[in-house]
This record gives sequence, C-alpha cells and structure tokens, in this order.
Amino acid sequence: MVSRVIPVDAFDLVIFGGTGDLARRKILPGLYRRFLAGQMPESSRIIGAARADLTDQGFRDMVAAAIDEFVPAERRDPVAIAGFLERIAFVSIDAVGDGGWAKLKGLMRENVVRAFYFSVAPSLFGDIAERLHTYEIADAWSRIVVEKPFGRDLASARALNGVLAKHFNETQIYRIDHYLGKETVQNLMAVRFANILFEPLWKSEYIDHVQITVAETVSVDGRGAYYDKSGAMRDMVQNHMMQLLCLIAMEPPYHFDPDAVRDEKLKVIRALEPVKPEDIVRGQYLAGGGEGGYVEHSENPASKTESYIGMKVNIANWRWKGTPFYLRTGKRMRARASEIAITFKEPPHSIFDDAPGWKENVLVIRLQPNEGMNLMMMIKEPGPGGMRLMQVPLDMSFADALGDEAEDVPDAYERLIMDVIRGNQTLFMRGDEVEAAWAWTDPIIEGWTARGDKPQGYDPGSSGPEDALMLMHRDGRRWREIKG
Ligand code: NAD
Repeated sequence: MVSRVIPVDAFDLVIFGGTGDLARRKILPGLYRRFLAGQMPESSRIIGAARADLTDQGFRDMVAAAIDEFVPAERRDPVAIAGFLERIAFVSIDAVGDGGWAKLKGLMRENVVRAFYFSVAPSLFGDIAERLHTYEIADAWSRIVVEKPFGRDLASARALNGVLAKHFNETQIYRIDHYLGKETVQNLMAVRFANILFEPLWKSEYIDHVQITVAETVSVDGRGAYYDKSGAMRDMVQNHMMQLLCLIAMEPPYHFDPDAVRDEKLKVIRALEPVKPEDIVRGQYLAGGGEGGYVEHSENPASKTESYIGMKVNIANWRWKGTPFYLRTGKRMRARASEIAITFKEPPHSIFDDAPGWKENVLVIRLQPNEGMNLMMMIKEPGPGGMRLMQVPLDMSFADALGDEAEDVPDAYERLIMDVIRGNQTLFMRGDEVEAAWAWTDPIIEGWTARGDKPQGYDPGSSGPEDALMLMHRDGRRWREIKG
C-alpha cells in the first residue's frame, strides 16, 4: 500500500527562530520529508528568520546539517535534498528591532498561502505579531503558528491570547500541541466515532475507570533550571494529557469540523471537577545509576517542583459521573511508554461462578512505543480442564496492520504544518480551550503551593513514588505496569 499524499497549495512559510533547536530537530526535517513525499508544491518556499547573521547559503548549510542529523539515512536522497534547499532563504531579523523586516516584506509573494511559524520564546510573540502587521507582511489570510508553552497560568495565557488577537483573528491562529498530530491520537477519534462497537459502552455504566500514562526515561539534565519553573503539571498535564483526556471523554461532535470538535473538548474541560489534595501525588526522581537526582539537575536543592505527577480526576457530567480518570506522567521512569487504558466493568451477572481466571476487559491504546490497540478479552482456557477462563489480547500493532504505509506516516510536526497550509484548525487548540485548561490547573497548583507540599522522592527506573500506588489501591484498583 502506498499512502495517499494530498497536495497542498503553494506557500511561503516563514520560520521565526529558524536556527533554533525546534526548527533544526523537527520543523525543517519534517518539511524535507513532506517535500520528499511530493506534498510540497514546486513553487513553495521556506524562509528562515532569526537573529543570526547568515546568508541564504549559510542557512541552507545549517538545514542540510539538520537533515543529516535528524532524518534517517534511508530517507536522505541527495537529489531531493538539493531540490529542497533551493526553496530555502534566510532573513536576519530582530523580533524586537526594525532590522530585516523590509527585506522580509520584499520576499513575500502574492497569491500563495502565507504562514508564519513563531518558533521563538513566547515573550517575543507580541513583537513579531505587531511587526508583521506594521510592515504589512501578514494579510487577512495569513496564518500564524505558535508553540507551547502557551502561558504558565490563566493570566499569562489570557495576556498572550490578547496580544495575538490584536493583529490576528482566531481563525488565523494555530496553537500547536504536537500530541494532537500523533497518528494514534487522531485514531482515538476514528476508533470512537467510526465504529459502532465502543460508543454504546462508552460511559460510566460500563467503564470502571480510565488510566492515562505518559512515562519518560529521560531526566531534565541540561534544562533543569528551565524545567524547575514549570514541572510536570504545567509541562504535560495542562496540555498533552488534557488533550488525551478530552478525546476519550468528549461527546461525538456533529461533524469532523474544527469548531465542532473543539466545542466538545471545551465542554469536557469545563466539566472537570477541582482535584482534592488527597487525589494528587507529586514526586521528584532521586539520584541513582550514576546520575544526579532532580534537585541536582534543577540546581535547586530546595526545589518543590514535581518531575512526576499522578492524580485522580473526575468529570462532572452524565456520561462520566462515577468513572475516575487516573493520570500519571514522569521523568526518569522505568520505560518510555505512553498509553491510554480503558477498563470495563464486570458483566452484570456471571454464569461462570465456579470458573476461575476472570479479569476485566481492557482497551489499551498505545501511543508509544509500537503504536496500536489491544483489547483484552476473556476466552475459555483451551484443553480438557473444564470451564476455566483466561484473558487474551486482541492485539493490533499499526505497523503490522498497515505494513509499508505505516512507515510513511508523517510525524506529528509534518502533519500539523501541512494542516496549517490547508487551513484546517481541527488539531490545534482554540484560545478558549487553552484558557479553560489553565482555569482548571491554576487552583490545583495554587493549592499545593499554599500548603507547601513537597514532592516525594522516587527511584530512577521505577514507576514513580510509593504514594502513587496508594492513590489506586485505596480505590481497589492498580496502575498498569509501565512497559517499554
Ligand atoms: P532555541 O533557543 O533553540 O531557539 C530560539 C530561536 O529564536 C533562535 O533561532 C534564535 O535566533 C531566535 N531568536 C531569539 N531571540 C530573537 C529575536 N529577538 N529576534 C529574532 N529571533 C530571535 O529555542 P527552541 O528550543 O527552538 O524553542 C522555540 C520555541 O519552541 C519556544 O517557544 C519553545 O518553548 C518551543 N518548544 C520547543 C521545543 C523543543 O523541543 N525545542 C518543544 C516544544 C516547544
């Protein structure tokens, strides 16, 4: 099978922060892959814009080096790379000054999609938006792409929304949460709304609880001072995990349309109950395995920032009342594994009273590694030993199910950038969604700050702090094993 590549309109894409880490690791290699796939029209151009004093050729050399480093060898085709580099230019620009803007204006063409990727610190968003307007570089059809973090609380997110809204309409603003660009995350919607199978059972009557896990093995070493100002709640829960929760919990939208989908997600966020202190466990990884612990990496011995958080979240609506969502995410954990597990309730009456071995049905959606789905089912244990039950997986790995096509699946950034060019906002967060997420998050953070709660230490390579186990045990449940 060969994946379908739907061409997009010709575009001029300006990447502010084109020399930065994100541009080098994700945006530019991603654009190259789309070019290689034949999705980037011949006349499209990419313009790097950053403070560095580079020529076009200097920037092309940097892009070539980024492709070398971040694109696997089998996808590095010298002819394609040369063709891709021809489409690249550079403008030395200062977001807070006036140098370079007139040159950028001179480079922009009429009758192509104009997109501006703000891959810079959020403190520069306002300056760039303003200058795009003053120098008449952006028009009413232009799109801007902004990166996370979108604020660090409700007040700062509102301020950022306000700054952008001065010069751009909501329909022009694409707030990236790269989780939404992941294939499996979009598959959550397909699985729920393109199959009749699950939806009738998708409610508290039949679902006991949901677990969402995003476990990482990496530490914060090297960016600890920066991370220490955010922590797992701001860095992962408020955005990525909230999006996963929304896709699981939302009502069916009337159509797969940006605002219809985002309206439904917003309703979920607004229905989240405040989280009780006893339903939150925060942790910091300890030193071990020859590496320092969180406090060494953050260079802050008195740090109370969490590198792990586990929490029980309740949704106050008809569908979910009584079905808790347990979320956990952390650094330096046993394995790099992200999954959503939906555990169903017992059948109302068991006819197999005497048959041992019964376990709940669990639907597991694996985001990484080995993206796929797994439905744990009960069957009869084979053999002559009478009626004994056993649990077996109906296991689907997308790589196996899709064969070669799975290899061509664009990574999250590639897909999202192409959606910007297409003008499709479905997989981007709307301003009110982000604000609602902060409105729920703020009191939780304020609560533990006011109480002076200190995170509990956990061993590197473990599943998190001891108290996190208790969070489930006291409800008669247990976390799933974290497996890479
Ligand atoms: P970086 O520090 O590596 O790069 C910053 C870029 O901004 C550089 O190209 C620099 O030249 C440019 N810049 C800085 N000041 C400027 C100015 N006054 N005028 C013009 N250009 C200026 O940062 P990064 O890691 O690439 O991150 C960029 C954005 O993406 C940030 O908002 C960050 O939070 C977000 N982000 C990054 C990652 C990542 O993996 N790196 C992941 C998620 C989000």
